[in-house]
Amino acid sequence: MLGSIEAGGTKMNCAIGDENGNIIKQAQFQTTSPAENMPQLTNFFIENRVTAIGIGAFGPVSIDRESELYGTILDTPKLAWRFFPFLKTLKDNLNIPIELQSDVNVAALGEAVYGAGTEDKTVLYITIGTGIGGGVVVNKQFLPTAQHPEMGHVWIKRIPKDTAPSNCPFHTDCFEGLASGPAIEKRWNTNAKNLPANHIAWETEANYIAQGVYQMMLAHAPDRIIIGGGVMKQPQLLPKIKQNMKDQLNGYTYYPALANLDETIVLPALGENAGLIGGLVFASQI
Ligand code: ADP
Ligand code: ZN
Repeated sequence: MLGSIEAGGTKMNCAIGDENGNIIKQAQFQTTSPAENMPQLTNFFIENRVTAIGIGAFGPVSIDRESELYGTILDTPKLAWRFFPFLKTLKDNLNIPIELQSDVNVAALGEAVYGAGTEDKTVLYITIGTGIGGGVVVNKQFLPTAQHPEMGHVWIKRIPKDTAPSNCPFHTDCFEGLASGPAIEKRWNTNAKNLPANHIAWETEANYIAQGVYQMMLAHAPDRIIIGGGVMKQPQLLPKIKQNMKDQLNGYTYYPALANLDETIVLPALGENAGLIGGLVFASQI
């Protein structure tokens, strides 16, 4: 039996499952503090024994296996978690092989192995939710990067009349600052869920998501792009994103995935379970 943890900013999800990515049992806890959450997670895996655990954690978190900080949450605004050694604490408690990656990379792995990227060599996964993040999986493996990518902070060119405040404390015009769920809410003074499908908000949103995805696509040359996260629950968004990307590419389609965006860019196939299933795959690779 394998274990999986999706350590999110609002919820801690944990599960046990098999070698084929099937979740067999799961539990969920509100994310509060290490003092409360670590015993909850430890007890789950004492009651449900596993041979290895794959963790996908909110960031910033060190994924550098050579570093003393590997598995430690870094300089996060969530004060209780700042510099908390998440991986080490769990390993000390459970004494089994456990590895940790960013939440987005782990969800990307889940989608690449059991979701919308099963047939593909190179999968780019991007989530548009409370934040924006992305990960690349090649041959069902994480890329050996120095740290997790921060695709949500690439620069975006504003539509000239858009003077809405950025939702990123560091950047006036980054992808996450302009296109995350909370950024939409700041721009239109209502939750993204409340905006009707024909609202101009979705034209702006599609333009910005297309810019971000366009840059990541040209940087990584993937076979498949999977765009998930709460904001993508708007069904009118995906076709608009594709149209904006085609406009931005302006005929520059030097390889098949670029020439065929309608098939290249898809929604996730695993829904809410991408992270937990990705964690099981990760555990199976330890
Ligand atoms: P998280 O990023 O926190 O893991 P989600 O991916 O669910 O969680 O993203 C949450 C964000 O998605 C919120 O900002 C919310 O406003 C937005 N969102 C959720 N559902 C919808 C929807 N149906 N339409 C538009 N935006 C949505
Ligand atoms: Zn930013």
